[in-house]
Amino acid sequence: MTRTFKEKRCCRCHKIYSATSDNFRRESRSLDGLTGACKDCLKMRDRNYRAKRKSKIAKDKIKILLLEARLRKLTPSSYSLFGRIKLQLRKFIGCLK
Ligand SMILES: [Zn+2]
Repeated sequence: MTRTFKEKRCCRCHKIYSATSDNFRRESRSLDGLTGACKDCLKMRDRNYRAKRKSKIAKDKIKILLLEARLRKLTPSSYSLFGRIKLQLRKFIGCLK
């Protein structure tokens, strides 16, 4: 019986796992068909990436709204604009938590 349970070291956390799809995601491009980083690390990376991206989008929106407010020179119609800025700020702060 030749059960070859190969081991594989995660390139991010450097822990050693058995090289199965339970511990690593599948990747057809790599030699062993698995990603270099373990599933936990990739999950963490994805979460960070999403959070960063979300906060960046919110930040950009705030910039645009502030620019808009400056262009309109704070006319009474800018009340709704401030509402939108506040909403974006709240979203942005939510991302940072
Ligand atoms: Zn890892």
